[in-house]
Amino acid sequence: MIPEIKQSKYVCEIGAGPSGLVAARELRREGHSVGVLEQNHDVGGQWLYDLRVEEEDALGRVAPLRVHSSVYASLRVLSPRLSMGFTDFPFLARKGRDMRAFPGHKEIYLYLRDFCDWFGLRQLIRFNTRVENVAMVGSGESGNNMKWVVRSKEKKCRKVMEEIFDAVVVATGLILSQGCQTSKVSANSLTES
Ligand SMILES: Cc1cc2nc3c(=O)[nH]c(=O)nc-3n(C[C@H](O)[C@H](O)[C@H](O)COP(=O)(O)OP(=O)(O)OC[C@H]3O[C@@H](n4cnc5c(N)ncnc54)[C@H](O)[C@@H]3O)c2cc1C
Repeated sequence: MIPEIKQSKYVCEIGAGPSGLVAARELRREGHSVGVLEQNHDVGGQWLYDLRVEEEDALGRVAPLRVHSSVYASLRVLSPRLSMGFTDFPFLARKGRDMRAFPGHKEIYLYLRDFCDWFGLRQLIRFNTRVENVAMVGSGESGNNMKWVVRSKEKKCRKVMEEIFDAVVVATGLILSQGCQTSKVSANSLTES
């Protein structure tokens, strides 16, 4: 029997929230080369608390802020920590930290940071880089030659980059704060090849 040849792909992953982090780890485990683009300065997604959220006008009377998180200062999780952790990296209570079964939001952020450090994911992430567009190029008859052009902008120096990947994973989250215009990333091309 001919052994199955696994082809390593160059994968772009958008977002370093919980979904993005675990996807990056799994892809790397399977031998793919992964580059994560994250618009924020750190990992955590919704759990990366941003003080500016408190200033947001819930009635929308002032221009919305460009903040990804909707987590507010007093937020505690709705689900118990036992059900929130990744199966092979349990969300255990740690001495000196928030040990409650339903901890405050910072504990989730710290847990995700631990996860990231434990699996050495930080080196895969390019922070402060917002993906603005994803487009498909080429296809080939079987789709084997399909590539994706990812255009991103570095937030500080505003440098725009276009890079070519074999596949794209979109882990930008479901809950978008107002003003986070992820919809600008063309939806029909945001699929994994
Ligand atoms: C107020 C609140 C309370 C919640 N409470 C709970 C709870 O108790 N239990 C629970 O399990 N879940 C809860 N959630 C759900 C929470 O959304 C998920 O736990 C989790 O954060 C979803 O992970 P994600 O990685 O899919 O998305 P997110 O956490 O949203 O992460 C998406 C990441 O993608 C990045 N990104 C987005 N667009 C771009 C772009 N164009 N370019 C580059 N990067 C980009 C963002 O900056 C972010 O880092 C709560 C959510 C909110 C808002």
